[in-house]
Amino acid sequence: MLDNLTQRLSGIVKNLRGQARLTESNIQDALREVRLALLEADVALPVVKEFIAKVKDAALGQEVIGNLQPGQALIGVVNRELTKLMGEHNDALNLAAVPPAVILMAGLQGAGKTTSSGKLAKLLREQNKKKVLLVSCDVYRPAAIEQLRMLAQQLDVDFFPSDASQKPQDIALAAHDFAKKHHHDVLIVDTAGRLAVDEAMMAEIKDLHAALKPIETLFVVDAMTGQDAVNTAKAFGDALPLTGVILTKLDGDARGGAALSVRQVTGKPIKFVGVSEKPNGLEAFHPERMAQRILGMGDVLSLLEEAQRNVDHAAAEKLAKKMHSGKGFDLNDFKMQIVQMKKMGGMSALMDKLPAQLSQAAANAKVDERQINRTEGIINSMTPFERAHPELIKASRKRRIAAGAGVQVMHVNQLLNQFEQSQKMMKMFSGKGAMAKMMKGMA
Ligand code: GDP
Repeated sequence: MLDNLTQRLSGIVKNLRGQARLTESNIQDALREVRLALLEADVALPVVKEFIAKVKDAALGQEVIGNLQPGQALIGVVNRELTKLMGEHNDALNLAAVPPAVILMAGLQGAGKTTSSGKLAKLLREQNKKKVLLVSCDVYRPAAIEQLRMLAQQLDVDFFPSDASQKPQDIALAAHDFAKKHHHDVLIVDTAGRLAVDEAMMAEIKDLHAALKPIETLFVVDAMTGQDAVNTAKAFGDALPLTGVILTKLDGDARGGAALSVRQVTGKPIKFVGVSEKPNGLEAFHPERMAQRILGMGDVLSLLEEAQRNVDHAAAEKLAKKMHSGKGFDLNDFKMQIVQMKKMGGMSALMDKLPAQLSQAAANAKVDERQINRTEGIINSMTPFERAHPELIKASRKRRIAAGAGVQVMHVNQLLNQFEQSQKMMKMFSGKGAMAKMMKGMA
């Protein structure tokens, strides 16, 4: 996801290298590139125009201070404006209602409503300690109710049964009564979608909205549909008082445009993004982290949060501290990261979140699951002393380690290089002025 956009934007920084400051003329070429990059990413044209104008204003008004290069300064501006475009901060769900807080899920068929309903139930239970009830009002698609029932069972979340002969409103109100009686904190209502926006669907979901008075009405939309996603969002936004958006399938080959335009066009915040088909593939959306990810700075914070959810907390916290301080990160930690990666669904799921350089380095080395196993094997062949002091691993130790792991010395060298690179990244992320240092690394 977003690879093209990331690559184009880092190319711009390179082109500005060697220029003393940002001027009307050198900025013009760079902005043309940014504009093309955004259009290629399928960002809506009006959004692109406004964005470019804002970046230009901000960049020209910007003092290029100290040793910041113009390229870095421009990326700094683009980073801030991208963040603003997507809404500055994460907009959390509002669940402050007389229980049950009702969440109504709206969207086209196939957008990911049912899957996201399940994921959201799991997330609210695990992260917010909420007692959640799931119900499906989709009486049209034959397997829809069954799909949600099975999902609820798999996730061990309460499910209110319904059947296709009932009216959607009756189902919803019965579920609401049930949730109240059984002290559920949250009721998530999955609804019927159509292949395209149509009046009957809009009328039905409006009725459901009127009957349930949900505190959250979330529009679920497939990021892979690009500009269509924005148009559909607008149609739903005109019909319903939406409170937020769930952008699904960001793990697919989405070019990223929907993430960038949805907020601007609808005025509604993206609250969550879907990042895999798996039940834990729903994440709170953080505009600032997404902007950094787009600019190739990686989404290390999300990565850490994920790590903390998936692995034992004490170990994850220790690692997080080391990553933040950039001190004491050794091959033992590197190995722990590998083990965590495996737990979190392997390399490909994590690639998107790593800083571009690191991700590229790994991609160049054709990292695959086999290679991860090999890496683990090599580290296992090292003594604890060697793991803590990889810089002291010279030729004879390398030969012994390679023999022990059944690999060639070349592979040991590769691993040590890889480790050194990731250690450098840690250092860039740590301490004051981390951002500036990171930008320096990009220029
Ligand atoms: P609905 O018709 O809106 O209820 O859509 P579904 O929940 O049935 O989802 C349609 C398809 O999209 C299913 O195959 C889901 O597994 C898939 N899907 C939903 N969200 C995501 C996501 O974030 N990533 C990926 N890769 N697939 C998703």
